[in-house]
Amino acid sequence: MSEAVCDITVIGAGPVGLAAAYYAGHRDATVRIVESLGQLGGQVAAVYPEKHVYDVAGHPKIKGQDLVDLCVEQGLQFGADVHLDEEVADLTRLAQNGEELLALTTKSGKQFLSRALIVTAGHGAFEPRKLELEGLDDWEGRGLHYFVKRKDVFKGKNCVIVGGGDSALDWTLGLQDTADLPITLVHRRDRFRALETSVNEARRLEGEGNVRICAPAEVREIHGDGSIQAVTVEDTGSGETYQLDCEALILLLGFHSHLGSIADWGLDLHGKRQILVDPMTMDTSIPGVYAAGDVAGYEGKITLISIGFGEAAIAANNAIARIRGEKVQPKYSTD
Ligand SMILES: Cc1cc2nc3c(=O)[nH]c(=O)nc-3n(C[C@H](O)[C@H](O)[C@H](O)COP(=O)(O)OP(=O)(O)OC[C@H]3O[C@@H](n4cnc5c(N)ncnc54)[C@H](O)[C@@H]3O)c2cc1C
Repeated sequence: MSEAVCDITVIGAGPVGLAAAYYAGHRDATVRIVESLGQLGGQVAAVYPEKHVYDVAGHPKIKGQDLVDLCVEQGLQFGADVHLDEEVADLTRLAQNGEELLALTTKSGKQFLSRALIVTAGHGAFEPRKLELEGLDDWEGRGLHYFVKRKDVFKGKNCVIVGGGDSALDWTLGLQDTADLPITLVHRRDRFRALETSVNEARRLEGEGNVRICAPAEVREIHGDGSIQAVTVEDTGSGETYQLDCEALILLLGFHSHLGSIADWGLDLHGKRQILVDPMTMDTSIPGVYAAGDVAGYEGKITLISIGFGEAAIAANNAIARIRGEKVQPKYSTD
């Protein structure tokens, strides 16, 4: 199934992809964003939504998710067509109505046609780490969660959160005003990796009966009829197992990422995980394909959000100049 032709397809909806969508939209290009995750915001939203960021110009201190929300507001204001849960797989070229187009195919079989591509894929497609439990995937959409996108989904629910990092602790605290209490936190080690102040707060809430900490412990089984109703947890210190009521099992075990098929497109690479670009234009070795942000590599590259924002502007302006056959001519946004 092919979607309509657009000027620029942006691969990846992290802060840099959203910035590229803004710059391209501001120049009146039609834009599509294809993102493998079910949410916008890349690493910032997936890994550290509750942490503060201090080094993005114009924001002396801003929470990761708040920064992403602003990037979304700015990036989508010209009506970019957003496709979530679509991991880009193949890239080919084809001619249509006398135009040479780039054809992207996603793992689900969708085809997207565009005149230029901006790859802002970060470290590659993110996938949440899973528990090694037989039949785990069958519970997706039936009480198993890998993100807390909207707190109200967990309203009044008996929640079991699994993980020992910042996200697990942040949401054990962050859902206190929403979920049924106590919220259970299961971690396979007895020490947590999360910020000490969050761990201390969770311990304090445990003392008040609002958090139940099971550590070292592991979820061994999921039970339910249609949707999750309970989990079996093993105390790995004593070997004892017990069953806990659970309507929402929230696995916050981090993510792994892989450049995947993008690395097989024949693009010149910079090291193993970055696409080689000319930093003057953000051109890759394939004409019409640009890259920006963490995925774009060159000598001296610094992987920071603010650097990616600048690269997004360069990539979008060069892509537009190529499509329109004109000189690179950035325009001010001031009206
Ligand atoms: C814990 C932590 C703290 C950080 N703190 C700071 C900080 O204080 N300041 C700072 O400047 N930077 C910080 N960074 C780095 C910053 O997050 C990255 O530089 C930034 O996210 C890069 O943005 P990006 O849009 O290039 O890539 P990403 O944010 O990685 O987004 C890439 C997106 O592309 C998607 N994608 C990848 N492959 C595909 C595919 N094949 N198909 C479809 N979609 C795909 C991914 O799912 C992802 O959503 C931090 C990073 C971490 C992990």
